[in-house]
Amino acid sequence: MTERIGYIGLGIMGRPAAVNLLRAGHPLWVWARRAESMRPLIDAGASACSDPAAVARQTDILFINVSDTPDVEQVLFGDNGVIHGAGAGKVVVDMSTVSPIATREWAARLEGAGVEMLDAPVSGGEQGAVAGSLSFMVGGKTAVFERVRPLFEVMGKNIVRCGEIGAGQVTKACNQIVISQAIAAVGEAFVFARRNGVDPARVREALLGGFAASRVLEAHGKRMLEHDFAPGFKARLHCKDMRIVLETAAQLGIGVPGAALATQYVNALVGAGDGELDSSAIYRLQELAAALS
Ligand code: NAP
Repeated sequence: MTERIGYIGLGIMGRPAAVNLLRAGHPLWVWARRAESMRPLIDAGASACSDPAAVARQTDILFINVSDTPDVEQVLFGDNGVIHGAGAGKVVVDMSTVSPIATREWAARLEGAGVEMLDAPVSGGEQGAVAGSLSFMVGGKTAVFERVRPLFEVMGKNIVRCGEIGAGQVTKACNQIVISQAIAAVGEAFVFARRNGVDPARVREALLGGFAASRVLEAHGKRMLEHDFAPGFKARLHCKDMRIVLETAAQLGIGVPGAALATQYVNALVGAGDGELDSSAIYRLQELAAALS
């Protein structure tokens, strides 16, 4: 059976992912609050809807890929939101990076209307979305996951069901806990090397052959050495993700001191007006603090 697909949130990540679904032969219905965001999809053969409820009425499986927690809430439950058009047997799949706690509340409200939900945040960036090679971290019921899996396989490569609803967002938060501290650690090692008169390029080369090797050391370390901070993953989005980590930890009473420290760097970078740079630009702040430039 060819599922009728909806897509809401046609930005850097959503637009190419939706195009890949269309190219794979799935009929697609879309909505965006700014009409120009829908244009590339309409040109490629998708049908435009007047609001999220209309997308839900037309489709069996509806993807959402908007910015932050209040945005998903608005799309789902606001005026003419998804809830007003969805019914029994339909599935909502949220690819945005948002709060796991809010996600569980939304899923319960949707379930009351007979609608299933998966949380399916991704990593892989714009490049991965265009190439159809995103990594999906999915939460929700196994049967619903299996129903949506063929569509995940159109948009991504590494597709992991991490547990029940919210588990995808928890996994994405774990990803950001690791990445943020790894970036800070690489920057710290590089200023330490430089203040000791050692070339950080040699340090990176040596460390890549041992236990300290990582993709962060490889990719972000290269950016730091070259002072090339074109995004990549924008610091303002990283900041939003760290807020999700810290708020979730606070609500549950979990200490995440390492993530809290790394968050301060990203906050300061955004506060300095560099929110559009790649978040590895925190290296600049570390250089300043070490009297380096
Ligand atoms: P983006 O380019 O800013 O796109 C966000 C889209 O969401 C826009 O098209 C916007 O619509 C829509 N939107 C936002 N708030 C809305 C609302 N209240 N109602 C309706 N539509 C709304 O952002 P992105 O980079 O695609 O990121 C989307 C999500 O993926 C975020 O949660 C982000 O953290 C996550 N993510 C991003 C990356 C990355 O590298 N960029 C990687 C992994 C995960 P309009 O076009 O109409 O303004």
